[in-house]
Amino acid sequence: MEEVGTGLLDRLDAMQRVAASAPGGPMLIVAGPGTGKTRTLTHRIAYLCAELGVFAEHCLAITFTRRAAEELRTRLDGLLGPVAQDVTVATFHSLGLTILRENAAAAGLPKDFRIADDTEREAARKEAGDDDATYVKLLRGQDLVDLDELVTLPLQLLRKDPDLVDRYQGRWRWIFVDEYQDVDDTQYELLRLLCPPDGNLCAIGDPDQAIYSFRGADVGYFLRFGEDFTDARLVRLTRNYRSSAPILAAAVQAIAPSSLVRGRRLDPARLDPEAPLVGRYPATTATDEADFVARTIDDLVGGLSHRSLDSGRISGNAAGVSFSDVAVLYRTDQQAAPILEALSRAGIPVQKRSHNRLRDRAGVAAIARELRLANTDTPQTELPARVRRAGQLLAERFATPTLDSTGNAPSPADVWSAVEVLTPLAQRCGNDLEQFLAQLATGAEVDALDPRAEAVTLLTLHAAKGLEFPVVFLVGCEDGLLPLRMFDRNTDDDVAEERRLFFVGVTRAQDRLYISHAQRRFRLGSERDTGPTPFLDAIDAGLFERLGATEERRPKDRQLRLI
Ligand code: ATP
Ligand code: MG
Repeated sequence: MEEVGTGLLDRLDAMQRVAASAPGGPMLIVAGPGTGKTRTLTHRIAYLCAELGVFAEHCLAITFTRRAAEELRTRLDGLLGPVAQDVTVATFHSLGLTILRENAAAAGLPKDFRIADDTEREAARKEAGDDDATYVKLLRGQDLVDLDELVTLPLQLLRKDPDLVDRYQGRWRWIFVDEYQDVDDTQYELLRLLCPPDGNLCAIGDPDQAIYSFRGADVGYFLRFGEDFTDARLVRLTRNYRSSAPILAAAVQAIAPSSLVRGRRLDPARLDPEAPLVGRYPATTATDEADFVARTIDDLVGGLSHRSLDSGRISGNAAGVSFSDVAVLYRTDQQAAPILEALSRAGIPVQKRSHNRLRDRAGVAAIARELRLANTDTPQTELPARVRRAGQLLAERFATPTLDSTGNAPSPADVWSAVEVLTPLAQRCGNDLEQFLAQLATGAEVDALDPRAEAVTLLTLHAAKGLEFPVVFLVGCEDGLLPLRMFDRNTDDDVAEERRLFFVGVTRAQDRLYISHAQRRFRLGSERDTGPTPFLDAIDAGLFERLGATEERRPKDRQLRLI
């Protein structure tokens, strides 16, 4: 840790410094990808505490994923030392859980209420039919709350109790929200109650990275921040420290047709004249595309040598790339199968995560139940060992399958794959079973990403938000897949959101970006002709290096094109 206070702002550029050292009051930081939003946020909190005498316990930082919260916590520890522990770092769900635990009686809940797992929810749903009131009663009878209620119940409490509002406003006088472009109605209302219109709310985000409207997020809250909060200060960060100049140029051109930021600017801080162009590979099929990914990773990491060394970073390999530097990003989870197959054939280790809820993954609910049951005889054992043990028991019990919420029995393979996903999460929870189970109930798969794993990371584009990797493969860049055609016709808004998703994907890359698309792909039950995504048309051909020899073929039916 550096000496607290000294030089805190020295490692920021001029605009980041303005944002980090601004006085109190509402502030909106509008900043594109890779402009150092997280860095600015953590330095602002550290500066306020170390230089301006703000108490760390008066600070509340809210992020959207557990993983982002952990990242924030680690960086604050580095800047502030032990004082950082007094800052509340939360996701909206964990914030709701804290408020509910502190006010359980007022919410009509016992102190030790739990979040219902899928089986419990489904059972209550079946019994209650369409009757939402009955549904809640059935859960309450078992001291359970539904996940969605983690935000709605605290809202109800605060709406009817101005004293409670006062108490929380007195406790969290400084509120920071990352990825503000993705707040939804209930999260927004909770924030409005926790923070007065002239309060110290620092909202950070990028409207061009709003990609969660399908879950109810509304970028409108970001765009009208100035109306909601009095005399809001506006700070723009425009210097991108993440990506090489060609990657950044491609990103800026790609978002231009539907940018929500007037006069959007993103200037490259990195001006290496040797930076490689964006690789573009027109594949014949999904298998050909997957082989290209495997072949290229193999070349970058150092050919055959990695197999004997069993470790990623090989001294002397030309590109200096390790497996953990590489991510493969795609629009839909189904696209992962051929990639996984090709990488495993090439002996390349992988970790795969989606943005789906952890509890929706086969095997997770069964493991959670098993852990709860086993808690009375093994509470001293470390959590990862307990997770493994639970997996073992479940896999053995396969002869009498354990039904999950969907009525399916998780197979031993499901159980072991769940154990693998949960282990890094268990490691980070120490021995705190309740915290671990709360994370299983509220977290997304991507929260369980292990950033230190020597493995190539496979992610859906939604899960990749906020992350960065030296090498990124953006696969399946085809019309109909990205933009994904969900219905007969996509609305203009749908297509704009898909373009933002493409922008998020491109801007995850630091040094090398590969974009690929297949001419034929098996989708929705049959093999179809496909064409490259129209999003590529916005990018200068001069920014691409064509890879492979395949002659690009336009699909026959151009009417299928959306824009
Ligand atoms: P996103 O919109 O994708 O979430 P972001 O704005 O949150 O991006 P960060 O992840 O905070 O960006 O920063 C991107 C990268 O740039 C990080 O590797 C960070 O360390 C680096 N960076 C940010 N600011 C500076 C700076 N002033 N000097 C050097 N590096 C910086
Ligand atoms: Mg960020």
